[in-house]
Amino acid sequence: MTAEKVAIGTVLLLVISNLFGFIYSYVVLNTSFFKSYRIQQQEYKPGLFKSRMPLFLFNFITLLAFSGFGAYFLFDFLDTSSFVWYVVAGQVLIAFLVDDLFFYFYHRYLHQNKFLLKHIHSIHHRATKPFPLEYLYAHPLEWMMGTIGVALGFGLILSFMEINLYAFWIFGLLRNLHEIHIHSDLKLPGISNFPGLSKTEHHDIHHSKLNGNYASTFLIWDTLLKTSFKKKQA
Ligand SMILES: [Zn+2]
Ligand SMILES: [Zn+2]
Repeated sequence: MTAEKVAIGTVLLLVISNLFGFIYSYVVLNTSFFKSYRIQQQEYKPGLFKSRMPLFLFNFITLLAFSGFGAYFLFDFLDTSSFVWYVVAGQVLIAFLVDDLFFYFYHRYLHQNKFLLKHIHSIHHRATKPFPLEYLYAHPLEWMMGTIGVALGFGLILSFMEINLYAFWIFGLLRNLHEIHIHSDLKLPGISNFPGLSKTEHHDIHHSKLNGNYASTFLIWDTLLKTSFKKKQA
């Protein structure tokens, strides 16, 4: 394995997951296939997908660049030769926990600081009833700062062992699919029903209320810090 191959593999995984997000969004917006699973029943505005596209593309390219170059420069610290399942699972869990804890406080601050809310985070909140790819719809600065949690998670792992390449890839893919999923506005049977993990409603309520439910992946942070909202309020 070479640094170039690691970078290309990382970029390819994200291209595939976002292609899925693109098709998923198209089906949600243009067909009635998922209609009965919608959490908020209001219709989407015509032309919404197209109007979101420039910022989607900008943030998507940023995502590919950060991930590809990140993987390339991380190469010397990667274990690319072994796949020990409990090491991979442990590293993925640590990366998710640290990333989500960072995101909780970062996201909560974006709401508490009225300047940042008005000029930065309000862009993401134009989506009051999100569709899958709207996870990409955020101010570019907010989007780039969001990668700090990933760096902190893998930095912590690196402080005591090499980062496993497969943990890095699995984390990247799952994080991306999870973001697409929690913006889907769909309550699909059998998906996201793992205990302790955030369900679509968690972030959907956040989008409809502009308050509470600040974490992305785990329920524990909002529960511990008493910012959890369970019911949608008008
Ligand atoms: Zn969101
Ligand atoms: Zn928010």
